[in-house]
Amino acid sequence: TQDALNPANLDSYAKQFFPLCMSTLFNVLKTQHHLKHFGRLSLLLFLKGIGLSLENTMELWRNEFTKNPKIDSNTFEKQYAYLVRHSFGQAGARVSYSPHSCLKIIMSNVGQGEYHGCPFKTWDPVYLKQKLTELGLGSQAVTSIVESASGGHYQVACTKCFEGNYGQAPASSINHPNQYFSEAVKLVK
Ligand code: SF4
Repeated sequence: TQDALNPANLDSYAKQFFPLCMSTLFNVLKTQHHLKHFGRLSLLLFLKGIGLSLENTMELWRNEFTKNPKIDSNTFEKQYAYLVRHSFGQAGARVSYSPHSCLKIIMSNVGQGEYHGCPFKTWDPVYLKQKLTELGLGSQAVTSIVESASGGHYQVACTKCFEGNYGQAPASSINHPNQYFSEAVKLVK
């Protein structure tokens, strides 16, 4: 169940159930051991939304960020731990922030070295095609997804991606990464 999510089984959840925006951020976290501010925030809120606890999120964050040679545990505590607590409503104004919707992600500015946008918008068609193929989607599905993305229909592209991955359409078209996740889990589990 989602309650049992923890840093150990998160990788397999990410592979199976994360939408492309969040699997991208998660992969960057795991391979580069760093994310810029908006990427950190976007992924944190998503993880909170899928039910990862504050403690488990902190453990994941600490494990990954401190693998970065520039971040020792002291720097981590000073510069990175706060945002985790803040995102979970445990620091600062103690507001419980909502995970970002597709619209918010699609509309956000994505600068050099940032990964928090919607890949259907930010990736060029050749790269998108290559990545979707690597994910195991059939060539017809890939063509159709890239067409929608190139036409600016990012959520349609994502909905088609869902359909390609799980063999059926989501109950309603994708408008939130957390909706993608929960519908995917429901179909597969
Ligand atoms: Fe993420 Fe939404 Fe883009 Fe899908 S359409 S990749 S859920 S932002």
